[in-house]
Amino acid sequence: CGIVGIVGRSPVAPLIVDALKRLEYRGYDSAGVATISEGQLGRRRAEGKLVNLERKIIDDPLAGNIGIGHTRWATHGVPNETNAHPHFSENVAIVHNGIIENFAELRATLIADGYVFSSQTDTEVVAHLISRELASGLAPVEAAHSALLKLQGAFALAIMFRGDEDMIVAARNGPPLAVGYGDGEMYLGSDAIALAPFTNAITYLEDGDWAIVRHGGVEIFDLEGNRVERRRQQSIGTS
Ligand code: GLU
Repeated sequence: CGIVGIVGRSPVAPLIVDALKRLEYRGYDSAGVATISEGQLGRRRAEGKLVNLERKIIDDPLAGNIGIGHTRWATHGVPNETNAHPHFSENVAIVHNGIIENFAELRATLIADGYVFSSQTDTEVVAHLISRELASGLAPVEAAHSALLKLQGAFALAIMFRGDEDMIVAARNGPPLAVGYGDGEMYLGSDAIALAPFTNAITYLEDGDWAIVRHGGVEIFDLEGNRVERRRQQSIGTS
């Protein structure tokens, strides 16, 4: 339902939760945040309201200057902590808005290849799909691109790779996704309102776009992998 990502220079978990709060009006049943700290992926997830997630993070802080967060409106799998995003597979963490239409067939091939599913979501297939591309020898960006080509349905995605504290890969095919520009920091949001506290310089991805978001900026590509230019604009979000 809601996505926030930050490639930052200070601890991001509390900032991500605050930004997700700005998306609460859209409705959700659970929420979660993942970060990378000292090369390792970590996450906290909670059923119900963002205060539940916030409490978990206060009790058990999540370090890391890069992270992705999500508020979930369940479509596949009941609303509970295990089905809450971010979903992990080996070295990959992802959050997803929308529905992967061909998840059942993808899931079957992944299970046949030995991948173990820990949730009932359609989303988790995307994480394992990227892992399988990595295992076949592709580098992270190529693995994400190759996995995107296999997806049918509607999605906004944010993807992180263990060990890389300078990259979120984003993709859009349906639900909105905007990249926000900071000063040596970059942001990602399913809604410009989520990014208003950080920046009002944004670029909306178009359907079929995917992007590499790093501290220094963003590169946007079409599905074939060609670089594309998208307009940078001032959001009119309130801060
Ligand atoms: N289809 C995904 C799920 O059920 C994402 C739902 C959403 O957009 O929040 O987990």
